[in-house]
Amino acid sequence: MGGLFIAAPAKVNAEATASSAAPACGTGLYPGCITGEGTATGAAAGKDRFIDSVRQVSAYFQHVRRVALTIFMPMSEPAPGGFWLHDQPHSATTIERGVVGMASSNWTIRRRLLSAWFRDRHQFSHGRLPRLCPICNHDGVMVSVGHPARWDARCAQCGSRERHRLLWLWATEGGVNRLDGKRILHFAPEKSLRRALQGNPHYETADLHQRGVTHSVDITCLPMANQTYDVVIANHVLEHIDDDRLAMQEMVRVLVPGGIALLTVPLNPTRAETYEDPSITDPVEREAHFNAPDHRRFYGLDFADRLRQAGFEVDTFRMTPPLEVTYGLLPMEWLYIATRPV
Ligand SMILES: [Zn+2]
Repeated sequence: MGGLFIAAPAKVNAEATASSAAPACGTGLYPGCITGEGTATGAAAGKDRFIDSVRQVSAYFQHVRRVALTIFMPMSEPAPGGFWLHDQPHSATTIERGVVGMASSNWTIRRRLLSAWFRDRHQFSHGRLPRLCPICNHDGVMVSVGHPARWDARCAQCGSRERHRLLWLWATEGGVNRLDGKRILHFAPEKSLRRALQGNPHYETADLHQRGVTHSVDITCLPMANQTYDVVIANHVLEHIDDDRLAMQEMVRVLVPGGIALLTVPLNPTRAETYEDPSITDPVEREAHFNAPDHRRFYGLDFADRLRQAGFEVDTFRMTPPLEVTYGLLPMEWLYIATRPV
């Protein structure tokens, strides 16, 4: 029966094991303790174990409490009664505030946060700073995304990543949306931006593989007529294309003079030159060399030169470091604004 005892000690001496017929120690917890001396030692050990268990359980609940507060308290969604969580009286207890937070929070946010916790609970262990999403106005905790995971990367409400928020900040800089009413072609459209742009009657999407897009096309061989669009958007697309220079030329072609391409790519700012090697085709090798199994290259600072060679004029956009924190942006990512000269 000793083998069924869940609290069996890690080390049971041979004598104790052989004397299983002897009476068990007084505590009844440790069948290996058979002598008077052993009984006293076993009782003390049992007490220590019990205290350790209590401490572990207590630490676990402390962790759960910290996570719950991190997840639910920074919610900025107004409660059904119209008040905001931040406005709750300080006299409210933690439990009361937590319950109100859970009851009043947006379902999508709650689902994303809980899903993020199940995926990687460590991201909430020390609390998280609330961030502001300029696309959906979510003002709260953001969650991890990617492999390996980047913490504070994905908006818990609209799902935007850092690059989408950066693009939107450029588009809405100065209080007027520069994309309103523009003829837009959005490659590999991301849900968050797509939702934000869908109200535009001239908004079109394109991808070679993604379903539900306006145009199922190859970016290096577009069927559109010359000078069709005012804006082309391509976030993290060009690193997947074998001939990215041809794709850039196609973008120039379909843009009107003065039209712009809004582009982001994975870029190593510590290297001047793009690293690429067409002979590397194995996904595992690509992952090691270019950071993803389907990437063809790892861009360097000469990405702007490629755009210029294709016919663009190139500018960049980024926020100040404090605002990068506010909006949950990457400190080493900027938006390329490539303009077809007039
Ligand atoms: Zn958002």
